[in-house]
Amino acid sequence: MFKSFSDSFLDLGDGVLGSIYPRHCPICDKLLPVVEIKNGKLRSGRLIHEACARKIRYVRGATCMKCGKLLASSESEQEYCGDCRRIRHVFDRGFSVFDYRSISGSIYKFKYMGRQEYASFYGKAVQRHLGKELLSLGIDAIIPVPMYRAKEIKRGYNQADVFANMVGRECGIPVYKNVIKRNKNTLPMKKLDARGRRNNLKKAFNIAQNDVKFKCILIIDDIYTTGSTIDEIAHEFRIAGVSRIYFLTLAIGQTT
Ligand SMILES: [Zn+2]
Ligand SMILES: [Zn+2]
Repeated sequence: MFKSFSDSFLDLGDGVLGSIYPRHCPICDKLLPVVEIKNGKLRSGRLIHEACARKIRYVRGATCMKCGKLLASSESEQEYCGDCRRIRHVFDRGFSVFDYRSISGSIYKFKYMGRQEYASFYGKAVQRHLGKELLSLGIDAIIPVPMYRAKEIKRGYNQADVFANMVGRECGIPVYKNVIKRNKNTLPMKKLDARGRRNNLKKAFNIAQNDVKFKCILIIDDIYTTGSTIDEIAHEFRIAGVSRIYFLTLAIGQTT
């Protein structure tokens, strides 16, 4: 009995502390049971309520071959979304797990209210829905989108790092945090149009390492909007000689 009890805790995947302290459901934010009994065995509790899990919509169906955005029904025959037909992206292709509208409240708490624990659920969702596809790409490094250092200190964590760590753990891909740095505190992107976003990001990132040996990287961020941040980072890695550049975000909207 004691052995299976301790085994179930060790199975948790995010350390013993996560098993001792109750975690919050990433959708309703209520506390989840620490343990549950399944088939007569005591196991670590769920990462989300069953009813809450049913409220989430995943990115599925006709998607843009470039940014991975769900295509509107009027353009479902198209290969690329309207944005990607207009803008030439630097990255090769992107993937997202959740449809933004069904998870926006969860991501807000994850980013601004200290709910780093949600990343365990997010990481498992990536593994389940995109794990095979990501594995087939031959990625040798996960690169979380860096946060400006002073901002990260103020917030206490970079949500892209937290999410990237869980994806790395679930998919067995190493995460490199200090290869690229954000060297200026850019303005909040939501206040800017597409051109403003690109100007805002000019020279915002630089690779902090002389010799980048990666052939294929996966840039990780929380939300995909116009792709300008990912393009700027991809641009730096292209110059450094990385040949294949993908991205993964937690959530993406639909074309309107
Ligand atoms: Zn819930
Ligand atoms: Zn697109």
